[in-house]
Amino acid sequence: MATNRTFTMIKPDAVEKGHIGGILAMITDAGFRIVSLKLTQLTVADAKAFYAVHSERPFYGELVEFMSRGPIVAAILEKDNAVEDFRALIGATNPADAAEGTIRKKYATSVGENAVHGSDSDENAALEGAFHFSGREQF
Ligand code: UDP
Ligand code: MG
Repeated sequence: MATNRTFTMIKPDAVEKGHIGGILAMITDAGFRIVSLKLTQLTVADAKAFYAVHSERPFYGELVEFMSRGPIVAAILEKDNAVEDFRALIGATNPADAAEGTIRKKYATSVGENAVHGSDSDENAALEGAFHFSGREQF
């Protein structure tokens, strides 16, 4: 069942460069409602758990190090068709392949340091949202 919610993180690279406001503006201008929002930091253990699905991939160690190196913004977002529409808004994983007008086209620097996360399914959106937010932090 589609929940009309997705989960995002503004990754450490984009936070370091001062892009929180610009990225949140693109998200809300695209019609997403903010359900939950916080500045936080993943521990190494958090990053390993969050990206466990990629644990066999060659970039896993680098990804864990990157995602835990500084603060992130975590958010749950709501919109009709949220997961698919948000993936379209962020663009391809590699910014070299990302379409004009996407968040990654504007703010990502490489396939690893690509500014934002977006859930890939309703099921993962629910799991990832619950990883960061309790029920009383969802509005
Ligand atoms: N990643 C990487 N190298 C790659 C592919 C992915 O460092 O060759 C990182 C990148 O930060 C990406 C994350 O791992 O966002 C998760 O990869 P996934 O394939 O799920 O991409 P996404 O869903 O974020 O577009
Ligand atoms: Mg993914």
